[in-house]
Amino acid sequence: MIPQNFEYSAPATLQEALQLVAGGDRKILAGGMSLIPLMKLRLAAPEHVVDLGRVPGLNHIAEMNGVIHIGATATHHDIESSGTIRSRCPLLAEAADHIGDTQVRNMGTIGGSIAHADPAADYPASLLALEAGIRLVSANSDRTVPASEFFLDPFTTALEPGEIIAEVLVQPEEASEGYRYEKVAHPASGFAVIGVAARIRKTAGRVTFARLGVTGMGPHAFRAHRAEELLQGGADPASAAAAIDDGQEANSDLYASADYRRHLARVHAARAIMVALSRAS
Ligand SMILES: Cc1cc2nc3c(=O)[nH]c(=O)nc-3n(C[C@H](O)[C@H](O)[C@H](O)COP(=O)(O)OP(=O)(O)OC[C@H]3O[C@@H](n4cnc5c(N)ncnc54)[C@H](O)[C@@H]3O)c2cc1C
Repeated sequence: MIPQNFEYSAPATLQEALQLVAGGDRKILAGGMSLIPLMKLRLAAPEHVVDLGRVPGLNHIAEMNGVIHIGATATHHDIESSGTIRSRCPLLAEAADHIGDTQVRNMGTIGGSIAHADPAADYPASLLALEAGIRLVSANSDRTVPASEFFLDPFTTALEPGEIIAEVLVQPEEASEGYRYEKVAHPASGFAVIGVAARIRKTAGRVTFARLGVTGMGPHAFRAHRAEELLQGGADPASAAAAIDDGQEANSDLYASADYRRHLARVHAARAIMVALSRAS
């Protein structure tokens, strides 16, 4: 349970951090909630760890020009308790509130969570439903990748060597919009066996806008486009929810078979849609 020896750097600026990660076998450390256990188990053995914890101004949460900017080192607690997120992007606050326990939420960061890309992590479902962007910077590049192109496979993202997640960019939800994050938590770890994020707008009682993100079911989180189309076409919540896993792989493990995961996804998608509908005005 003791990690292999490694060099440790605590850069004081983002520029310094970017220079350090450009230099080979370097691993970024944020909250350490996932990386430190992996290092202790020797499933990860980086030669050099670059700690973002002392980089100032990387944990901001602010709305600028109609976009909410969430710094990579904002913790889950920062997000669940932020007035800006709670009032302007309540789906994300609800997802953050579902992560782990108080200690994990105090230490873990949004950048660390999405870089780690656990297929059962909570944020990806909401970030997909929110059509968020992930801003990635390196010593010589700065690009924003849509969440739909960021999560590629279990523990695999669009991050290139030398890149750091700088920010998550989210459009505010409309005030009339209904939202819900529904989760079946694994009883031991708290991770999502299934998590469904729903955003719904309606006009004269009809659903005119639906965004559904799903995590926990397959190799990576996904948008449930078929279920969205059904809702926007006038289908009832249960009929739309029956298509939540349309065309998607389902994982099977000791806790939940693929069939059970599909069943949970449909039941909890129906619940998420119904709550979101009841919150939409
Ligand atoms: C007991 C326990 C329960 C948990 N329960 C849940 C849960 O219910 N739901 C859930 O979603 N998660 C859960 N987690 C995971 C938690 O959310 C972690 O915070 C998260 O997975 C990693 O975030 P971190 O800031 O600790 O990152 P770290 O552990 O420091 O890093 C994780 C990975 O991300 C990389 N990284 C970190 N920051 C950046 C960055 N800015 N740019 C590029 N790469 C970066 C690191 O190099 C590393 O590979 C749990 C963790 C524990 C220990």
